[in-house]
Amino acid sequence: MPHVARFAHEDTSDWGFVDGDSVYPARGGTPMPEALADPGLLAEMASSLETDPIDLGAVRLLAPIAQPPQFIGVGLNYRDHAEEAGLDLPESPVTFGFLCSSVVGEGDTIEIPTFTNEVDWEAELGIVIGKPGRDIDEKDALNHVAGYTIVNDVSARDIQMSEGQWGRSKSFDSFKPMGPWITPTDVLGDASGLAISLWVNDELKQSSTTSELVFKVPEIVSRLSQSATLLPGAVISTGTPHGVGFSRNPPEFLANGDTVTIEIEGIGRLSNPVAAQAS
Ligand code: MG
Repeated sequence: MPHVARFAHEDTSDWGFVDGDSVYPARGGTPMPEALADPGLLAEMASSLETDPIDLGAVRLLAPIAQPPQFIGVGLNYRDHAEEAGLDLPESPVTFGFLCSSVVGEGDTIEIPTFTNEVDWEAELGIVIGKPGRDIDEKDALNHVAGYTIVNDVSARDIQMSEGQWGRSKSFDSFKPMGPWITPTDVLGDASGLAISLWVNDELKQSSTTSELVFKVPEIVSRLSQSATLLPGAVISTGTPHGVGFSRNPPEFLANGDTVTIEIEGIGRLSNPVAAQAS
């Protein structure tokens, strides 16, 4: 199945399917969350594409889910990252919420306000929920996953370390680049064994594989669904591998003029410029 994307084209925004360099607007006026919630419907729509696609270069890709009904982060979920942070592996997933107002898309600018000097990057695999569910069995979990996207869990470390909770430091406006699209589960399965990399400008900073995930996709979905009904379009960002800025010696942070690019095998690339407010 092709990728599922939201895009702007000639003053209108729409959603549809991306196949190679072609964008096929979804037909029939079905809202995207409704299609994501029904795997049969999504597959049917993807198999009966219009014959007159738009060129991918002519559209502006938008965050695939602009306002996730639930946007959940998982912390310390890569063995190699827990090690570099000097922290023990958690016995159950450490989860927290992001504000939806922080979501931006491919190519949008990450904006650094004047009151933080320690804005860091985190390459993450994002799970996008399709069919809603509560008390989902691990064996059934992938039936509730519509697909996967890339999330940059941008974090103001000075704020994160000075506050008891992490949500605010990771939820500044523009701190959650997401995209470039959703790659369906029937393409990626449980998303294990995918190469995940992040560059700041041309310098490779993170390079790992989703095999390093402590809690894997079915377990994360199952665990979270024990306490909350997972809704269509909910996004769960699964944690970052080693190579973040604050764990480097000396520590490194994002600066005005940088560009952060994340690539996950089978999904694609998410790239965002960085602008710092003048102090
Ligand atoms: Mg993170």
